[in-house]
Amino acid sequence: MSELSKCFYQVTAGRSCRDLCHPEYATCWQSFVGITKTLLPGSYKLYLSLLVIPPLVKGGGYTVEYWRNHILGYVSLSFKTYVQAISGLTLQCLLYKLFGKLHYYCLMGVPGFVSAALVPWLPRVHLRLQGVTYFNMMLEVMIRKSKLRYLQKLRTSKLWATVCFMLFSAKIMHVLRAETVNQFWIMYPATGKEDKMGNTPQKRKIAPCLHDASCRSYVLDGIWKYALVGFTIEAARGVLSKGSLVYGEPSRFLQELRQSIGFELPLFLATYVGSFRGLSCWLAHHTGRERLGHARLAGLLSGVCYLIYPKYQIFTLGFTKFLEMSWEHHLNTVKEKSSWLKLLQRIPYLRLVHMISIGYMYHALVFHSHLSPPFNSKCVNYCSDFRVERIKRRLVSWMLEHSWSIVGQ
Ligand SMILES: [Zn+2]
Ligand SMILES: [Zn+2]
Repeated sequence: MSELSKCFYQVTAGRSCRDLCHPEYATCWQSFVGITKTLLPGSYKLYLSLLVIPPLVKGGGYTVEYWRNHILGYVSLSFKTYVQAISGLTLQCLLYKLFGKLHYYCLMGVPGFVSAALVPWLPRVHLRLQGVTYFNMMLEVMIRKSKLRYLQKLRTSKLWATVCFMLFSAKIMHVLRAETVNQFWIMYPATGKEDKMGNTPQKRKIAPCLHDASCRSYVLDGIWKYALVGFTIEAARGVLSKGSLVYGEPSRFLQELRQSIGFELPLFLATYVGSFRGLSCWLAHHTGRERLGHARLAGLLSGVCYLIYPKYQIFTLGFTKFLEMSWEHHLNTVKEKSSWLKLLQRIPYLRLVHMISIGYMYHALVFHSHLSPPFNSKCVNYCSDFRVERIKRRLVSWMLEHSWSIVGQ
């Protein structure tokens, strides 16, 4: 597929945005009206898992307010993504009109970047969700694409990736325990809140750990709850992806659902959390008192569980969280902020990351599709009603025609 980038201008010479993007519509305006009418359900379908999975794994606190915010959040995010999809696809036509020819970067990359910039104001939580998801996918493609030797080693070596994940985990658990950052991670350490609330030293002497209940139930509770969360995520994902079979072939549905549910994710979550909690308790008892450094050591060692579920998604999640949390920790703990730090602080990183990574991933979907993760094509194809897939296929068929014509000469 990378061949496509080499002969893009030869194969698209003399072709218009209509030939490539919307042969089913005579004009760009008709195309705009057509997509405006048809793309809405795709965005709602894309975020269905975001509607279903969080309440399933939440495990309590289902107030009316929670449901209202949750459903409104889903409706709003889906609608804004729909607007983003329309603007991205329409920009392809506008950029063609502007330059008078199809341009390599203006086909997917620039429209993706600009449409992400144009999307109506996204709440920070959704901007973060989209931005971090796309940034993680961008990292995945960059690692796969890179010719750097050490990166290739990292890509193929589970050992290296595990060591890196262990280091990310150590730093993340350390800053979460120190309570200098307040961000999402797979698990959270018991913090010293009881201390701040004035627990007496005697109580800590009896129970050196900071968690409630006994150490045994603390560890077992983590293992059980996280295994259940992993299993729920896998089951919900399976039902959402195979759900359409219920109507057509119910017998195949159960069989395929069973096959699609993996046990690696629940096992990874349960062992990661269980080993972290177990080690923290052991260290606290062994040294007689819970210390800040224990979270770092337990985080480091429990990171070895990455071997059970060595996925890019987990690795890149660890990496981005490591960067984000280290940065926030630094900002919150530095004694005096230098002028360059103040300047850096003013840069809207999340917004920039969101725009750049969406542009990059749109481009990668068409021009480096063998490197693009399946989730990327799912996102774009759901939201564009498979128009981008058709664009890609047209380009490939033009390329084949072009190479045949060269062979024939
Ligand atoms: Zn057009
Ligand atoms: Zn304990």
